[in-house]
Amino acid sequence: MTRVFSGIQPTGHLTLGNYLGALRRWVETDQHQADALFCVVDLHALTVDQDPARLRRLSRQTATLMLAAGLDPEVCTVFLQSHVDEHTRLSYLLECVASDGEMRRMIQYKEKVARQQERGASVRLSLLTYPVLMAADILAYGAGEVPVGDDQVQHVELARDLAARFNQRYGHTFVVPKATRPGVAARVMNLQSPTAKMGKSDESGLGVVYLLDEPDDVRKKVMRAVTDSGRDVEYDREGRPGVANLLEILAACTGGNPEALADVYESYGALKKDTAEAVVEVLRPVQARHRELCADPAFVEGVLREGAKKARAMARPTVDAAYRAIGLLPPA
Ligand code: ATP
Ligand code: MG
Repeated sequence: MTRVFSGIQPTGHLTLGNYLGALRRWVETDQHQADALFCVVDLHALTVDQDPARLRRLSRQTATLMLAAGLDPEVCTVFLQSHVDEHTRLSYLLECVASDGEMRRMIQYKEKVARQQERGASVRLSLLTYPVLMAADILAYGAGEVPVGDDQVQHVELARDLAARFNQRYGHTFVVPKATRPGVAARVMNLQSPTAKMGKSDESGLGVVYLLDEPDDVRKKVMRAVTDSGRDVEYDREGRPGVANLLEILAACTGGNPEALADVYESYGALKKDTAEAVVEVLRPVQARHRELCADPAFVEGVLREGAKKARAMARPTVDAAYRAIGLLPPA
């Protein structure tokens, strides 16, 4: 059976995009595959400036929300990236098979560099090498499938390339992984600027729905979503991105399909109202479970401790094999 690995960065409060694009699928299908691993990728968060106290808080909150959404530590492994040294050990070896040019071509690198420069912040070297560490996250476990939203597909392709290149140069060591993406809501867009992805480290405000938003805030954000100048409800991602985004969110929340839903609605107002209620209903059980888990922090800590132990045992043999294959002597 294929092993699954995926992760979320503790860079902000989790959004509806993280839920529909990643988390919900992990819960519904991926965790039931053999030895699935889900990781709070805290080292990745350090590719941009983070306040230490906030990072600690968000790492706990992200792990808690993963469990609240329904990841079951009895069937899968949930852990923090920084608790398993194999990720950084392997990342260095992969830096030795990756090239500077291929890193600089990564779309997300270019986007995040532009954002850093707008803020007048310097660009961390780790932002450039981030996809290599992500490749190490995946390859260390021999994961065959990586369920991600659209924005991460290019990085999984890079992990594929690095695995194949390493295997070809040094002998078969890694499983060559592939990305899997959701059929609908693979790229939830910002409600205020629907040509940009909804992201948790974006400036917040009305465009981003957070998993822990109060129902009335969700309603307000969805009702004020930017739509298009047209009048008919049509599903056209290029021409009518605002309405298409709402249709996709509604479809993802209700199990429908966006084209068919477009025929059902005659006004933007009705579409927004139903979308808002559908989102509120999807978030309700996650928020309730999150409240319960917050009352029991020792449980969450125990899950992460056990998770790290299991993850380390799974990663170790592969990473050791990579060290030997590339020509490093084992310690005496
Ligand atoms: P950041 O802004 O810090 O990059 P993010 O919201 O993009 O945060 P990540 O931690 O980078 O979140 O990604 C976690 C998972 O959520 C990935 O699988 C990613 O593809 C998915 N994801 C992120 N944003 C969206 C979105 N708007 N629509 C669908 N999937 C998304
Ligand atoms: Mg991201």
